[in-house]
Amino acid sequence: MDHHHRHILLVTYPSQGHINPSLQFAKRLVRMGVKVTLATPFSAINRMTKTTTTPTPSQGLTITGFSDGCDDGYKPGRDDLAHYMSEQRRHGSEAVKQLITATADRGQPFTRVVYTTLLPWVGRVATSHHYPSTFLWIQPVTILDIYYYYFNGYANSIKPNCKNDLSLSIELPGLPILSSRDLPSFFHPSNEHDFALQIFKDHLDVLDEQTNPTVLVNTFETLESEALRAVEKIRFVAVGPLIPSAFLDGKNPSDTSFGGDLFQKSRDYIEWLDSKADGSVVYVSFGSISELSKQQLEEIEKGLLESHRPFLWVIRPNGNVEKKDEDKLSCEEELEKQGMIVPWCSQVEVLSHPSLGCFLTHCGWNSTLESLVCGVPVVAFPQWTDQSTNAKLMEDVWKIAVRVTKNEEGLVKGGEFGRCIEIMMGSREEGEKMRRNAKKWKGLAKEAAMEGGSSDLNLKAFLNEI
Ligand code: UDP
Repeated sequence: MDHHHRHILLVTYPSQGHINPSLQFAKRLVRMGVKVTLATPFSAINRMTKTTTTPTPSQGLTITGFSDGCDDGYKPGRDDLAHYMSEQRRHGSEAVKQLITATADRGQPFTRVVYTTLLPWVGRVATSHHYPSTFLWIQPVTILDIYYYYFNGYANSIKPNCKNDLSLSIELPGLPILSSRDLPSFFHPSNEHDFALQIFKDHLDVLDEQTNPTVLVNTFETLESEALRAVEKIRFVAVGPLIPSAFLDGKNPSDTSFGGDLFQKSRDYIEWLDSKADGSVVYVSFGSISELSKQQLEEIEKGLLESHRPFLWVIRPNGNVEKKDEDKLSCEEELEKQGMIVPWCSQVEVLSHPSLGCFLTHCGWNSTLESLVCGVPVVAFPQWTDQSTNAKLMEDVWKIAVRVTKNEEGLVKGGEFGRCIEIMMGSREEGEKMRRNAKKWKGLAKEAAMEGGSSDLNLKAFLNEI
């Protein structure tokens, strides 16, 4: 069906983990004939590389920036996150309001506003201008279920008084049994971001004001079938995985990158991977935000050296500070003989390379979906927000991961990384099983995304409804 009369405004938070699925979502809509304007703060626009695979306005996609009061981007350590979020809401609400009216004045009004996680205020702006809006949730639906339960009768089981016991078991309808350590970090006793739960509450409040609220989710039916139906009051519609087409449905073979890469990159690492045997390389990356302490990095270094396996390790330069001698890892030369360290890479290309053996990851949701789509088993080292839950799902439900254990000081020692890498890469039955499961999920993810697959049909049905 031709959806050319539809013009969707898609507003997204400026971090890489939000831009990537949003851009993929926009591209999918454009392929279905919908006109899309993707709006995000300037800090993200400034980072975006102009790739030839991003559709142009004439093809149906316009990308536009707005000021959220922090045009050089939020910097951990420099900026206070709570303050940044409230300024973003203030500046952003005004900017989105102006964009909506200016577009209507030009005679091409938006027919719907779609907004992603952390931006409930966009839903409010849309409502106040009498525009229909839809929430696109870009974490697993299990996480949104947990927040929903927390604010709807289960607060005491999710965040009990006994604050320090991280092994309590929590039973929520339709979800696997969780222990406290599997919950999103905003429920952990160590949480420093008090404002975060309020943002999720705001999201749920916006939905509560709608009749028959529908939320689009970056997941797929077979991956979270029960969790998609766990909350009666909200209809969750799985439209994922939102991954570049070349790695998924193959419809657009030149669509290999997100086009929002954080750092300029040389592509030497692909040649390096080409020179390695199939299934032999450990890929190590902790996403676009998390910063690990030097002490923790050195333990990872020990684990990698101990494994004697080739590795590709992404260590992002700290944007604020020049690298000093004391920042150097102690065995950098030795490391570089065994593996390769890069500041950034095209992650989905790396994960889909035949030389890949396993992925040591922080379990960000995009990284998790990318591992599933590429059939790569995981060593899970979650850091914060949804990542512990994602690790739990990968380890115990989808059975493609082994999770590292911290010692009493909260540090994961080199030997523990070595042990987990050995499970994944060695010849033991345990690793063999997880490698097989990873391949199974790869097939199911592709099935969901291809023409006529569940996510494809769900998105088409949604477009027909709106
Ligand atoms: N990414 C990448 N190259 C890198 C590291 C990360 O392209 O060197 C991409 C990765 O493919 C993913 C995103 O950045 O799509 C990170 O999102 P995720 O949700 O995994 O973690 P976050 O950065 O939000 O913590």
